[in-house]
Amino acid sequence: MTGSPVEWVKDRPAQSVRTCIGCRQREPSADLLRIVTQPREAGSATAAAPVVIVPDPRRRLPGRGAWLHPVSACLRSAERRRAFGRALRVSGNLDISALEQYLENRHEHS
Ligand SMILES: [Zn+2]
Repeated sequence: MTGSPVEWVKDRPAQSVRTCIGCRQREPSADLLRIVTQPREAGSATAAAPVVIVPDPRRRLPGRGAWLHPVSACLRSAERRRAFGRALRVSGNLDISALEQYLENRHEHS
């Protein structure tokens, strides 16, 4: 808390700033993809990854979310550093295939 205590904001709504869990850079949340965890459906064949991470581009899904640049580089570094578990407060194996697929498709169309 240094500098001027009051920041004058002129005709611009305050933007919420989030931290990308991959590269740890702070960005306006509009530039980041929200991701949330979903419990795996009961009766699913693979029990190895009990928690599924899904993209939430509309930011409507309930639950604890985290933020990530929608690029595979940030996905990879988040995965490598196990940032998903920390950010989303889950432990155990995480299934990020839905997220990978989302980023791949997004890349193809851009
Ligand atoms: Zn990033």
